[in-house]
Amino acid sequence: MACKDKKYEANVGGKIYVDNTCIDCDLCRVEVPEVFARHDDGYSFVFAQPDSPEVVEKTIEIIGNCPVEAIGNDGEERMNEHTA
Ligand code: SF4
Repeated sequence: MACKDKKYEANVGGKIYVDNTCIDCDLCRVEVPEVFARHDDGYSFVFAQPDSPEVVEKTIEIIGNCPVEAIGNDGEERMNEHTA
């Protein structure tokens, strides 16, 4: 299970994040390119929170399919909702 205390700083603020157990397998980036990108240091991170029903559904599915359970959905609320 992903741990928000171990999430990469590259993740955008919000509920979905990748923690440092990611093994850079590429699955989330291929399946949900709207949300996940590859960092130059060799791991995935969330560059945009899902914001449509279709992408939310795909994101929830990939959370269950990540081979090392590195994707979490219990991060803090979006920062821009508090600072806008
Ligand atoms: S599916 Fe999981 S292990 Fe694979 S790149 Fe995405 S976060 Fe990393």
